[in-house]
Order: sequence, then C-alpha cells, then structure tokens
Amino acid sequence: MKYAITSKGDSKSNALMHKMRTYLNDFDLQYDENQPDMVISVGGDGTLLYAFHRYKNRLDKTAFVGVHTGHLGFYADWTPDEVEKLVIAVAKTPFQVVEYPLLEVIIRYQHAGKESRYLALNESTVKSVEGTLVMDVEIRGQHFETFRGDGLCISTPTGSTAYNKALGGAILHPSIPAIQLAEMASINNRVFRTVGSPLVLPAHHTCMLKPVNDVDFQITVDHLTLLHKDVKSIQFRVAAEKIRFARFRPFPFWKRVKDSFIRE
Ligand code: NAP
Ligand code: MN
Repeated sequence: MKYAITSKGDSKSNALMHKMRTYLNDFDLQYDENQPDMVISVGGDGTLLYAFHRYKNRLDKTAFVGVHTGHLGFYADWTPDEVEKLVIAVAKTPFQVVEYPLLEVIIRYQHAGKESRYLALNESTVKSVEGTLVMDVEIRGQHFETFRGDGLCISTPTGSTAYNKALGGAILHPSIPAIQLAEMASINNRVFRTVGSPLVLPAHHTCMLKPVNDVDFQITVDHLTLLHKDVKSIQFRVAAEKIRFARFRPFPFWKRVKDSFIRE
C-alpha cells in the first residue's frame, strides 16, 4: 500500500506528519506523493479540502483520513494522540471505506462549446462581482424563482456543517445522496419573491442558475474562488464520483455534530 501525507504547514502539523512517516516506513509502507492509495491529512478540515482537490483525479483509488491538530473537524476527526493507533490500523490493510457524496458544478459560457467542470467536497457559492446577484433558478428544467440577493450556496451533505450551516441550512446526514441550495440574504418584498427556505434536492434533480442581466460572477468551489466571465449557465447536481474515507473506528456523524457544535 502506498500513502501520502499532507500537512497544514504549521510546526505542530509538520512534526506529526514526520512522526507518522517514520512509523509508516517502519511498517514498510511506501510513500508515494503522486499515486497514493491512502492520503492522510494533518491539520484541519481546510487541510482535507486541499488534499481532496490535489487528489481529485484518482478518487476511486484513494481513501482519505484526517487528523486534527487544532479543534475537532468533520473530516479531520482523529486526534494527534491517536496516531499510533491510526498507523497500526493503516498498516493492517484491508480497511473499511465509507463513501460520501460530492457536488458537480458545470459552468457554461456564452461562447458555445466551452465549459468548466468542478467537484466540490463542501460547497460551491455564486455571488455577483458588483451589486446584487440576480439569477433565474431552474430545478429539473423548470423555472422555480428569480433570486435577488447576496448569493447562493449549494452544498454537499458533509459540507452542510460548513458555510451552509451559517446560512441557516439544515445539517444533512452524509448517507443521503443530495445537494442543498441555501440563500444568502435574498431580497423579499411585494415585487421580489424567493422561497426563503433551503431546498434539498435528490441525486436525479439538477439545479441550474441562469443570469438575468450581468454575466460575470464570483464562483467558489470549496476554498477556491474564481471570476467567471460571459457565463451562460451554472449547473449543480450530485456528482457521479464520491469521496472515500478510510474508517478504522466508529465515530457517528451525529456525535461529530454534537462534539463540534454543542459540547464534547
Ligand atoms: P477557513 O476560513 O479557514 O474555514 C472556515 C471554517 O470552516 C474553519 O473553521 C474550517 O475548519 C471549517 N470547515 C471547513 N469544512 C467544514 C465542514 N465540512 N464542516 C464544518 N466545518 C468546516 O477556510 P478553509 O479551511 O479553507 O475552508 C473553506 C470552507 O470555509 C468553505 O468550504 C466554506 O464551507 C467555509 N466558509 C464558511 C463561511 C461561513 O461560515 N460564513 C464563509 C466562507 C467560507 P478548520 O479550522 O478545521 O479548517
Ligand atoms: Mn481552515
């Protein structure tokens, strides 16, 4: 089995990374930064987001594990003092794997033929470059509403505890293959009307955003922010790909929610 370790880059995470490498080498596991079967991320949830994007081209061949050197994370749910246990578990392959849904984003442009495709582990957001975002929202090919406001956030189940939660979205269990559309400060009065509630769409429903006036947008995919010009449409749906996490011990999702947001 080949593995790679990514670190947040601070001294604590780097020290833990080197410690794990030494242990894993003692177990005769091969370090391979380019084609790992397992990626161990040391830092926080943000570090795992980076690791995901670095290895997104081999998701079917890679399992992820997250160690947190700061607060408990949703992806980074192993503590530094558990790494000995973790290393032994990693060395003792085969291991169990759990798969979580991802979000597919396809951006099409006014010039026919050109399109960009992204995968998000947490979410994708759409904001205007200047002023209010105005977008026609289509669900399953049918016009649903015209959104006016700060922006829209489309999240995965595991991303539902991140930005989506701050927007009043629901927390979704990651065993549900769905995406969630949450509003950022929509304008609602007698002229403009949106549904107001977050929407949860099943895997076979597509959400499409179409510009009403302005065609330039600031679009995020997890931690990445890009300016997209001459946009014709932005399409969201549950991706065919999934992220695989190596599972060495039970840590139920609702316990992670409780430990992260209520108390340990
Ligand atoms: P960041 O600004 O350092 O992250 C914001 C916080 O979100 C960090 O505490 C991070 O945890 C946490 N986080 C990331 N993924 C999470 C998840 N799935 N569930 C619960 N918490 C999560 O930036 P970053 O670390 O590069 O992460 C990017 C993410 O920040 C975006 O995907 C978005 O979800 C989130 N964000 C949130 C808001 C908001 O809540 N208003 C605004 C912008 C972006 P760690 O400290 O462990 O990294
Ligand atoms: Mn972070």
